[in-house]
Amino acid sequence: MKKTKFIFVTGGVLSSLGKGLAAASIGALLKARGLSVSLQKLDPYLNLDPGTMSPFQHGEVFVTDDGAETDLDLGHYERFVGVPMSHRNTYTAGRIFTQVLNKERQGAYLGGTVQVIPHVTDEVKAAIRSAASPDLDVLLVEIGGTVGDIEGQPFLEAIRQLKNDLGKNRCLYIHLTLVPYLKTSGEPKSKPTQHSVKELRSIGIQPDIILCRSEEPLAQDLKRKIALFCDVPQDAVFSAVDVRNIYEVPLTFHREGIDNKVARLLRFKGVPDITPWRRLNERLNNPRHEVLIGLVGKYVALGESYKSLNEALTHGGLESQCRVLIRHVNAEELKPRNLERHLGELDGILIPGGFGDRGVEGMILAARFARENKRPFFGICLGMQCLVVEFARNVAGLPEAASEECNPQARDKVIYLMTGWYNHRAERHETRSHLSDLGGTMRLGSHPCRLASGTLAHRAYRETEIQERHRHRFEFNNAYLDLLSRKGLKFCGLSPDKALVEMVELPEHPWFLGCQFHPEFKSTPMKPHPLFRDFIKAALAFRQAKAAPA
Ligand code: GLN
Repeated sequence: MKKTKFIFVTGGVLSSLGKGLAAASIGALLKARGLSVSLQKLDPYLNLDPGTMSPFQHGEVFVTDDGAETDLDLGHYERFVGVPMSHRNTYTAGRIFTQVLNKERQGAYLGGTVQVIPHVTDEVKAAIRSAASPDLDVLLVEIGGTVGDIEGQPFLEAIRQLKNDLGKNRCLYIHLTLVPYLKTSGEPKSKPTQHSVKELRSIGIQPDIILCRSEEPLAQDLKRKIALFCDVPQDAVFSAVDVRNIYEVPLTFHREGIDNKVARLLRFKGVPDITPWRRLNERLNNPRHEVLIGLVGKYVALGESYKSLNEALTHGGLESQCRVLIRHVNAEELKPRNLERHLGELDGILIPGGFGDRGVEGMILAARFARENKRPFFGICLGMQCLVVEFARNVAGLPEAASEECNPQARDKVIYLMTGWYNHRAERHETRSHLSDLGGTMRLGSHPCRLASGTLAHRAYRETEIQERHRHRFEFNNAYLDLLSRKGLKFCGLSPDKALVEMVELPEHPWFLGCQFHPEFKSTPMKPHPLFRDFIKAALAFRQAKAAPA
């Protein structure tokens, strides 16, 4: 059994400095040394999980195999380190407090006064240890928020205590700060970093390494100054400079020597093989082709809402050396008369997941445009549901077809609330103790799906049974299966018991496919997802055919 070592990553000055990416990149570099690595995110907010938070507030909800609804940083962890995350890899303060309060009700504290120290901090420490399996060399633990936030205090106190519990040779503290460049004085400023490290030290945590986000690499004398004020050796102060694409971060960190420093401090041996990261960046930076994909959705103003999707599209272009440009199309603006203007230029159309009825009529119009104009089309979750409604209305002669989510009174609810799934769960007496009632009402996590041979789906996966991640309440209504298949819709992926439709496609079309699951959660740059790869190939073929002289 290995003695897992722990790297705690905290952040100072302001949020959104890319702590998640920094942790993921250090994880990737340690993995490149042959170490077994995992990551964990501790979020100081009080929601039990981000499942009930609006994408406008919190960005994407990332779903793990075991059905946890998590922070989007877990998506970065999976993409950079390639290990599947689970509900153990993420805890919010809300979940920690709930566990403590449940124990209190059960009498676990034997009549004692329940306090932040030691009861909440013990729960945090147990949560951290729960993510460290016996075969793990290193666990990187990212503390959400910024040092100084009231909510973050119990987490910081817990990681401070862990150094004594585990021994200092097994713990390393990395603090990420910002070194802003002040135009008026023409110099980068170290004061915010000094203050944030002071704040960290006031609760007893002395960082071992300081990572400074900055536009330009820090000069040696600035590093010297930060080292002096923050009581670290000068070679423990690093610049984390802005990069063109996120997959450059491991390379820039390696160039700076960050992973070497971490390895030395934690006594890890070996040299990293970063060739795969070099190759990836060469490919990303030297594309030979380009496609324009339209993302027709409701949260289009916010890139954070479709994080995994954007990444999966980029990965999808790697094999065909194709840069994927994404145009966000606001579904609410689409009308029958303006489709050509909004969608005409696109090489492929993608409708992502979503909730509620806002923009859905526009998405259905986009699906129709793609079907009629033989434009490559990929419908994910809500996108598949729109595809089905469109087909039912305009091909299968059901003009009043709708999804129950948008119109509970519709005559033909081709997409309806998944009662079958709930019964199935009730039979298995499934409970999800770590999720709230609202959060627990969806079909979540990884489920198997069987693919019909000779289909686009089967051609993409080259497998007959796959596992994909879900997050939805509504499903295809099997009462319409016969009619729709007679009219030409191919039900190419079903659950193994054939009870649930997971994938549909159109044979008379270059590439027109919908899936009820979210393939974007499983795509990584080292292992691009086959559906995204084939969608981009189809979009590229469309573009090249368009450019070719008639
Ligand atoms: N709102 C739809 C449902 O609940 C689709 C969900 C999604 O796209 N993630 O079934």
